[in-house]
Amino acid sequence: MLSVLRRIVQDVLSASSVSFSHALELLVHDVRVALGTEVCSIYLLNPETNEYLFVANEGLNKEFVGKLGLSRKQGLVALVAERAEPINLDHATLHPRFFSVPEIGEEAFNAFLGVPVIHHRSVLGVLVVQQRERRRFDESEEAFLVTLSAQLASIIAHAEATGEVQTLLRGETGSALERPDALFLGVGGAPGIGLGTAVLVQPVANLDSVSDRATDDISTELQVLDRAVESVRQDIVRISEQFAESLPAEELALFDAYLHMLDDNALPGDIRERIHQGHWAQGALKRVIVEHVRRFEQLEDPYLRERGADIKDLGLRVLGYLQDIRARKSHFPDDTILVGDEVTPSMLANIPAGKLKGIVSVKGSANSHVSILAQALDIPAVMGAIDLPLSNIDNQSMIVDGFYGEVFLNPSDQLLEHFESQIADEMEFASDLETLRDLPGITLDGHRIGLYVNIGLTADISRSLDRGAEGVGLFRTEVPFMTKERFPSEEEQRLIYREHLEAFEPKIVTMRTLDIGGDKALTYFPIQEDNPFLGWRGIRVTLDHPEIFVVQARAMIKASAGLNSILRIMLPMVSNLDEVLEAKALVQRAYREVLEEREDVREPLVGVMIEVPAAVYQARLLARHVDFLAVGSNDLTQYMLAVDRNNPRVAGLFRETHPAVLAALREVARAAHAENTVVGICGELAGTPVGAVLLMAMGYYVLSMNATNLPKVKWVIRNIKRSDARRMLARVLKMNTSDEIQAYMREQLTEAGLGRVIPSYHA
Ligand code: PEP
Ligand code: MG
Repeated sequence: MLSVLRRIVQDVLSASSVSFSHALELLVHDVRVALGTEVCSIYLLNPETNEYLFVANEGLNKEFVGKLGLSRKQGLVALVAERAEPINLDHATLHPRFFSVPEIGEEAFNAFLGVPVIHHRSVLGVLVVQQRERRRFDESEEAFLVTLSAQLASIIAHAEATGEVQTLLRGETGSALERPDALFLGVGGAPGIGLGTAVLVQPVANLDSVSDRATDDISTELQVLDRAVESVRQDIVRISEQFAESLPAEELALFDAYLHMLDDNALPGDIRERIHQGHWAQGALKRVIVEHVRRFEQLEDPYLRERGADIKDLGLRVLGYLQDIRARKSHFPDDTILVGDEVTPSMLANIPAGKLKGIVSVKGSANSHVSILAQALDIPAVMGAIDLPLSNIDNQSMIVDGFYGEVFLNPSDQLLEHFESQIADEMEFASDLETLRDLPGITLDGHRIGLYVNIGLTADISRSLDRGAEGVGLFRTEVPFMTKERFPSEEEQRLIYREHLEAFEPKIVTMRTLDIGGDKALTYFPIQEDNPFLGWRGIRVTLDHPEIFVVQARAMIKASAGLNSILRIMLPMVSNLDEVLEAKALVQRAYREVLEEREDVREPLVGVMIEVPAAVYQARLLARHVDFLAVGSNDLTQYMLAVDRNNPRVAGLFRETHPAVLAALREVARAAHAENTVVGICGELAGTPVGAVLLMAMGYYVLSMNATNLPKVKWVIRNIKRSDARRMLARVLKMNTSDEIQAYMREQLTEAGLGRVIPSYHA
């Protein structure tokens, strides 16, 4: 039964990418055959008419498909939905809720089994099987239908998101591509909104087209391969040169990583080995690439999984030369939105500067290299838009919302106007906000708040300074580690850190020690665990590898030599005091070692991130031993609410303004105040207007955020009194739910004349 079930789900899934109504027809057919029943139907709830519409059937009068609607009180179908549980009857026509529609011919059928289709707790419809014979469907049949229905729910929910259910319910025809405002969901790869024309990019070659072929002429095949590899190498060098002006050195290093994959002892070495075994170059390449990609795809770690995409991209480029195919696209409209199954960094290279307005990739995530590049280039990007129909997408008009990970296809004039006006408002507001750039973050009643930035890419430096950052509250040092193919040396690290300290001199720069593990990994240092967020992460890794920790601390301290910047070293994922004491001892050792070499360095300040519930309860103790505390509210929320911060299925439960999270945040602030220790916060919450006001009221001195959010938050802080914020906080702390808190705060901020910062579209 399991294999039948899998096959049905797979068939329905594939059919739904072409036509949703066809997928439903296939479903009723397959179910009828699998259960050997005479009738199978599906009814979907039409919220506009409040009826269950008969949308697909086999065995009854088909003329009623799309026409018959049952009210929420009518018949057994409505009863299944009402109870939200299966109803299994041997003699349905005798049931008091049986409702007769003689024209569809149901009277002849006695056995009835109806199961609800439920997604995220709401009933989307009902799946029904019927049979002439008077019998109860047995347990295994009922279980089969319930299991199928649970899987069907997500397919229907997805079709609802893309607008196909609505089309079907309204009796319209047409594919998602023709319908206005069809919405496709992915994840934000780089923030911003882009409006433009979709340009579909495809890899130059197709691995599937390569057949296995033996060769006798090994030396010719080796030569052919070498020439192709060399051509790709030259392409990558050219692409890297093309980006040299728009990308900082750190991000350009991505292309070096590509080049290293083309080193003799890397991919080409493996391919050569296959050629020596008697395969022709194309076949050898195919085998090696497929093996590598498969190995990467099986990895748990999302970052490493993404690296498989880089290998495939390179492989296809080499194959392109082996097959003598040249890249096809040469014309790009002025408002190009690059769309592809797997958009890779090298695909961006062909587009003339200024024409690229957005990126949408069906595969990939926020960890993909193309996301990192898009962020550095300030191009909105949506990744993982898995349902986007790529065929015929070329030239379609499109909106990319990199803030919310949404793509709108074929936007209506109304939607375009909405986004255009949102962009115009943002730009106008942003230019108003420019005047605040050099003004301090100070409330109307004179309380000073440090407004700092979170950075990772070198490109963030100028963006942060342009937006008036008063310091760096979090430098995610793992980012430069991610763009390399080995641990950067002490000197390499020193240069990167120096660049930051110099750029921000004499401001505070808070450098976090390497925070890998969880969702962040390094290709050259894989960590595989069943439960990575509860495993070897952050300080746990670096304390186990003091050589990595000390080299990093030394590089940071050396980088600060002779500068007036204030270096703060921050420890991630701390869950007990011993970790802090050990780490402090290592920092002191690093400092002493550097002092032996040069005298123009000062001892760095050392602080702890409060990201784990245990640290909240020990905040006062920890505060006694360090120079500052900084809350990592992203992880703290994840650990307090037991909600994976990257799992879309539970994204609705990830609430940074959950009353428990706010209570913890206040606890930390109080603990720090009691010990006279500086306390700040560097999670996303600090960059939201509601969060910033509440945190300021709690007594956080430093709010550190993404540079994009900084001007808005500064405007809010400068236009509110701390006394008013404290009044709001007092009310909020008595509230029961995050929704209640959000609604109250939005209302309060609007009343205080700060409504401009509350996003309208997603409000
Ligand atoms: C956090 O957890 O809030 C934080 C700032 O660290 P990261 O997002 O890098 O884990
Ligand atoms: Mg964190």
